[in-house]
Amino acid sequence: PEAITVQELANRMAEKGADLVKALFNMGMMVTVNQTIDQDTAELLVEEFGHRIQRVSESDVDINSSDDVDPEETLKARPPVVTIMGHVDHGKTSLLDALRGTDVVRGESGGITQHIGAYQITTKNKQKLTFLDTPGHEAFTQMRARGANVTDIVILVVAADDGIMPQTIEAINHTKAAGVPMIVAINKCDKPEANPQKIRERLLEHEVIVEEMSGDVQDVEVSAKSGAGLDELIDKIMLQAELLELKARPDRDAEGTVIEAQLDKGRGPVATVLITRGTLRRGDVFVVGTESGRVRAMIDDKGKQVKEAGPSFPVEVLGIGGVPNAGDQLAVVENEQRAREVSEYRSEKAHAKRTAATPANFDAMFSNLK
Ligand code: GDP
Ligand code: MG
Repeated sequence: PEAITVQELANRMAEKGADLVKALFNMGMMVTVNQTIDQDTAELLVEEFGHRIQRVSESDVDINSSDDVDPEETLKARPPVVTIMGHVDHGKTSLLDALRGTDVVRGESGGITQHIGAYQITTKNKQKLTFLDTPGHEAFTQMRARGANVTDIVILVVAADDGIMPQTIEAINHTKAAGVPMIVAINKCDKPEANPQKIRERLLEHEVIVEEMSGDVQDVEVSAKSGAGLDELIDKIMLQAELLELKARPDRDAEGTVIEAQLDKGRGPVATVLITRGTLRRGDVFVVGTESGRVRAMIDDKGKQVKEAGPSFPVEVLGIGGVPNAGDQLAVVENEQRAREVSEYRSEKAHAKRTAATPANFDAMFSNLK
């Protein structure tokens, strides 16, 4: 893969080399301005800076955004949000399906599975976990590029009958750059030719040291096909979640992130929103990206209408004025007038940003790298 020195990238981004070094340090990489970084890392860095620009403009709008912090005593534990990544055909979709199948609530209700971009399961021990149902690195990086860090834990799927492949390495890099903890699921262990130990050894070359190799990255042998190891995988996710002390304030106006959105023929604009804090209720007035609306209905991943949605809960939201973008932030506001003001302000900002010659012109910046 192509490489670029930190200084060269800084020049292209019109940023200070030292600022990039600092950002890389925060991403867990110790490099000097004269050292080279690979293109993935370079892209993440550009996103990181783009992200910051976006955050600043968002906070200009005086609504309950990223700036106000909820007091510690108002926080309650929330379910972890998990993304599955790995090389093509290593079993991401199969694993997502198998995990969905462990849901005790779904088992009881016999509800119809709705694809809404995310789903939540309840374990035998009544613990809840949320999975983003759009596996793949693009979804992950696109969300991050828009300033939305919704993933708490990454499951890296590696097929035990294959090995560390290009997209495995990509997934490792993205996860590290995002600073998100990883759990390695060594899949297809039902196959006679499976060699999990080989996978563990090969991961060392990419500085992923699993527990079995005396490291601190949890690993588990699974089979999406037979279901073996799934309980253990869930236990490890919950253990990781406990270490992260994931909390959010449920009793406040809701905020959330759009996971996916589309125009539905019968229902109009529909967005799957992952609530990040607060509780979203039917009738709430909100702003989402440059759109605004009022919650007409909310539907969960089992196709059931719900009246409210709390932290880490994914719901389809109906009643939006237009189709927002994945990664857009939703925030409940006091009334429709305020919603209009904020969405108009955001539209103007977005327009100004589009027409201005920003340094974050990605393709141009990388065109001579490729
Ligand atoms: P993805 O591209 O990572 O989403 O992989 P898929 O879930 O589509 O799986 C790719 C292929 O591997 C499919 O033919 C699956 O049936 C198969 N597969 C997935 N998991 C397992 C497993 O645990 N054991 C076996 N034997 N096959 C599996
Ligand atoms: Mg797939």
